[in-house]
Amino acid sequence: MKIGIPKGLLYYKYHVFLETYFKEIGAEIVVSPDTNKEILDLGVKYCVDEACLPIKIFHGHVAKIKDEVDIILIPRVMQLKEKEYICPKFCGLPEMVFNSIPNMPKAITNPIYANNNTKLYKWAIDAGKYITDDINLIFNSFNRALIKQSAHKTGIRNENFEINIALSGHPYNIYENFTNMNIVEKLNKSGVGVITEEYLSDDLKNINVKKLYKKPFWTFLRENYGFTTYEALEKKVDGIIYLSSFACGIDSVVTELIKDEIGDFPFLILKIDEQTGEAGLDTRIEAFVDMLERRQENESDIPSHG
Ligand code: SF4
Repeated sequence: MKIGIPKGLLYYKYHVFLETYFKEIGAEIVVSPDTNKEILDLGVKYCVDEACLPIKIFHGHVAKIKDEVDIILIPRVMQLKEKEYICPKFCGLPEMVFNSIPNMPKAITNPIYANNNTKLYKWAIDAGKYITDDINLIFNSFNRALIKQSAHKTGIRNENFEINIALSGHPYNIYENFTNMNIVEKLNKSGVGVITEEYLSDDLKNINVKKLYKKPFWTFLRENYGFTTYEALEKKVDGIIYLSSFACGIDSVVTELIKDEIGDFPFLILKIDEQTGEAGLDTRIEAFVDMLERRQENESDIPSHG
């Protein structure tokens, strides 16, 4: 049985688990290629106009491989952390895809509650039954996939740069190099190091989150807010860049909350959609890096007393 895995959305975080699990239960995996112009165009063609770019790109990945596979995984991710939720677009993703893309193959769309292993195992049984009836094989494959996933470290922490920034945003914006136009490489070439939220513990992220008048129930919002405000207020970095998806409600809220908390700390929001041009993005990054350099020079010019 050939199972298609679209390389979009949370694939970047959980591909080790998904690929290991399906391979171990005996499926042949077909992963869509890295995002490219053809995939973007397919996404724009099939997906509703109002959707954010990551959702459009996911549609493109589905359209690219749907005819090569017997069954396709459309992950209906409901929860990643206890008492938190993720964007509603994830919950309705299978319906969006089936309403937009014609001639779809059979799909695995069972809800994924990844906030604890018992619930995730239930998903593994439901999804695994499309491939095998062997419950022992499902159990052992699930455990091997969990072990491999926990040994897999995601995140970026560059070292030995004079200027460093916290790069924040949803994982699919940070790790999707086609849409972010290789932002990490661009920053590194300009002499700027990058750190991402995976390198900050949940306890430290939660310091500023706990000060909010209401606990955020969106996982991405809590993580991005906690990470950026901690890095800024503790002066761990020289600036913050937030990669935001045009038309993302969560991003519009979190960027306002961050601004309120960090005051005049250098903060650049880069909104990305299918119209974003590379020249415009480069100009904004260059201007931001120039500003960070000037700030650093000015700070080193201030005479020290005592
Ligand atoms: S969180 Fe924002 S960027 Fe992500 S799928 Fe939802 S609307 Fe799109």
